[in-house]
Amino acid sequence: MKKHNFSAGPCILPKSVMQKASEAILNFNDLNLSLIEISHRSKDFVDVMENARNLSLELLGLQNKGYKALFLQGGASLEFLMVAYNLLEKKAAYLNTGTWANKAIKEAKMFGDLVEVDSSKDNNYNYIPKNYTIPNDADYFHLTSNNTIFGTQVNHFPKTDTKLVCDMSSDIFSRQIDFSQFDLIYAGAQKNMGPAGTTLVIVKEEILGKVSRNIPSMLDYQVHINKDSMFNTPAVFPIYVSMLTLEWLKDLGGISEIEKINTKKAELLYTEIDTNPLFKGFVADKEDRSKMNATFNLTNDNLKDQFDNLWKDAGINGLNGHRSVGGYRASMYNALSLESVQVLVDVMKELERKS
Ligand SMILES: *Cc1c(COP(=O)(O)O)cnc(C)c1O
Repeated sequence: MKKHNFSAGPCILPKSVMQKASEAILNFNDLNLSLIEISHRSKDFVDVMENARNLSLELLGLQNKGYKALFLQGGASLEFLMVAYNLLEKKAAYLNTGTWANKAIKEAKMFGDLVEVDSSKDNNYNYIPKNYTIPNDADYFHLTSNNTIFGTQVNHFPKTDTKLVCDMSSDIFSRQIDFSQFDLIYAGAQKNMGPAGTTLVIVKEEILGKVSRNIPSMLDYQVHINKDSMFNTPAVFPIYVSMLTLEWLKDLGGISEIEKINTKKAELLYTEIDTNPLFKGFVADKEDRSKMNATFNLTNDNLKDQFDNLWKDAGINGLNGHRSVGGYRASMYNALSLESVQVLVDVMKELERKS
């Protein structure tokens, strides 16, 4: 029996995707060759790349709106740097909502003035600051839509004339928002889309070419756009698996359909966290709770061993919280089923009955 995989990342992927991916390793497109041993310039792989890029834009509703989709390497962590390299001339504004935002800020500081418009550090990032002002001379405003570690999620994006850049690593393709309000979106594949090794970047082409510095080729979005995301050998396997996941999502009915399922999963778990006296949620304001990563604690730490044994016996994997938060974190990415969440909720109820 496959485990109920609540891992925060690398994440659970649909079973049908795993099946197709493993077949492609042995024999891709009936070529009698493996996907990972053919030229990335062959028609068979070029089709994969095009399909993956088109599906990304299509699912986000960004086709024919001046956006380009790229599958790059270096993870979201390299995007912390690339964003600033390509867009920061004088000043950039950042919202500090946790570990990943801090890492993005650290890189951007190398390129210009950095304004932290607000921070939730005062309460170990258990909320999303909301009453901030974006300086109108900022080259862009950067935020993290979902804070994977702390379990908070942005539900209101600012209306602003400043360019919006968003790290959506852990909630891209999970909920319907107006993606055209962003000028640049990036996401490491391994949270909600595919295996580690590729990063999706969606960029409005017209915002590029405005900084005065020289940009090294590998870090230059325009170079990657001009080469259709094949400036160097792309991460063929992670891109192929991402494409399969995006096809799976499209067949399911797209983002609006997966959002309904994600909402059900989150409601099921948060209801248990709120009603079971043995648990309490980490996030201060319910409005800021993440539907992807639910963080919670036991109200009585003496029950830890008992609870840990119960969920492990139930076939649950990956429930321990990040070391900076402690407690538990249930990551409920797109491919996790409602049934798996029910198994976790049943274990929480069982603990209440037994203690
Ligand atoms: C995991 C994560 C990152 C880092 O991604 P890498 O691909 O490991 O560099 C960045 N931002 C967010 C929100 C994440 O969840």
